[in-house]
Amino acid sequence: MADGQDRGGVATDAESAAKLLHGVVDQLVEGWRTRPERPASPATADAAEIRAWLGRYPLEKPEDLAQAVPEVLAALDRWTVHTDHPGYFGLFNPAATWAGVAGDLITAAVNPQLAAWSHAPFAVEAEQRCIDLFSGRLGLPASAGGHFTSGGAEANATAVLTALTRAFPEYSTGGLRALDAAPVFYAGADSHLAWLKIAHATGLGRDACRLVPSEASGRMDVAALEALLAEDRRDGKAPFLVVATAGTTGAGMIDPLPRIAHLAHEAGLRFHVDAAWGGAVCLSDRLRGVLTGIERADTITVDAHKWLSVPMGAGMFFTRDRAELSSSFTVSTSYMPGRVDDTADPYTTSAQWSRRFTGLKLWLSLLAYGISGYRDQIEHDAALGQVLRDQLTGAGWLALNDTPLPIVCATRADAPADPAESWRWHSDLADRVNATGSAWVSPVRVAGRPAVRMCVISWRTRTEDIARLRELLDRV
Ligand SMILES: *Cc1c(COP(=O)(O)O)cnc(C)c1O
Repeated sequence: MADGQDRGGVATDAESAAKLLHGVVDQLVEGWRTRPERPASPATADAAEIRAWLGRYPLEKPEDLAQAVPEVLAALDRWTVHTDHPGYFGLFNPAATWAGVAGDLITAAVNPQLAAWSHAPFAVEAEQRCIDLFSGRLGLPASAGGHFTSGGAEANATAVLTALTRAFPEYSTGGLRALDAAPVFYAGADSHLAWLKIAHATGLGRDACRLVPSEASGRMDVAALEALLAEDRRDGKAPFLVVATAGTTGAGMIDPLPRIAHLAHEAGLRFHVDAAWGGAVCLSDRLRGVLTGIERADTITVDAHKWLSVPMGAGMFFTRDRAELSSSFTVSTSYMPGRVDDTADPYTTSAQWSRRFTGLKLWLSLLAYGISGYRDQIEHDAALGQVLRDQLTGAGWLALNDTPLPIVCATRADAPADPAESWRWHSDLADRVNATGSAWVSPVRVAGRPAVRMCVISWRTRTEDIARLRELLDRV
């Protein structure tokens, strides 16, 4: 930038900053407005070509941003799967709310440091306000607490750490090697497999994550959980945690939460609910009943960057006893600011140290649309999911999953019977849909059976887009 060039360094004057940001905002909104006219995903993506593109900028000397930004946006346009396309029926990556985008921009520019309350009192309190609001909607008691995380994987890792710390008093100082027996925990075979990475990273080892088989429906088989638990106890292992998923990533199935809660409590185990995507339905009084049992959880994961549609990354971790956060994360140093009465410093109650104001994009979205706006959106998406399900089954498709959440995993009676061939057939079908540029869908396995997965996740998706997807599927 001109000023930076004159003085060297990275300094920028106010006029150049305003020009840069206004230009970026105008181009972003225009790109978003015209998105439906352009492909939802790249026709091709060649790593060598992208690297050559990046090589055009040696990054040695200042370049003109006014010229480079449109080129960067064009490159992103060409080489990105666009989750803000109304035909994006993909993974849980939403079209970001504009209030959320504004929140992230404000966060980036003000750049408050949330490690210590005293550095960013407003930001820490605003995040707590969001946590308290969701904690109440999830049915947790007044003793509950929590914090924002980078995403669901960090929140789930926090669930394992807090459970280990609570279950094994020796763990926090002596580590796993101080324990007499090998700890194990349970998650469904259809759960989000970050559990394996978490088992690896915590030193439990991947074998300590016991994957409980699913029923044909794709929900956790509670009898199989009981059997596995009994077997592990016989083998001298130390079970400490059961994870249920409320909205599996593949098929949107909700594990039988009340039965799993009951079993976990009877067995003296911690109970975690991974509601990374599905947890959003707690904002709808009509739909939140599908989460019944979640209020008995010790800990819960809900991602704000999934169905709550704020930009990545924004997860939330909840515990029914906020005191246990400091048991896991406390540390004291002379260089950090001192604690203020009646507040907690997030660096002593969560895994992160330097901490971004992640909660602002959610708080601003709640402010802009209200819980009522979210409720309407979530109910609308759920209804669109039902329309898609009805249209497909009416046109000879077979839905392999049965969930009130808006994911349809569909196959056809004439799909190949051989599992490997069937996978290729469904992958190929998804590729051909995606190659049209009008929609984006993916192949998936539901209880082992290949299918095409379609999730209503973009708030830009309308009934017309559902009809177009059905036509596309029939055509390709
Ligand atoms: C997406 C997802 C996760 C992982 O969350 P990230 O935000 O991607 O880290 C965990 N569990 C479930 C059920 C998910 O859908």
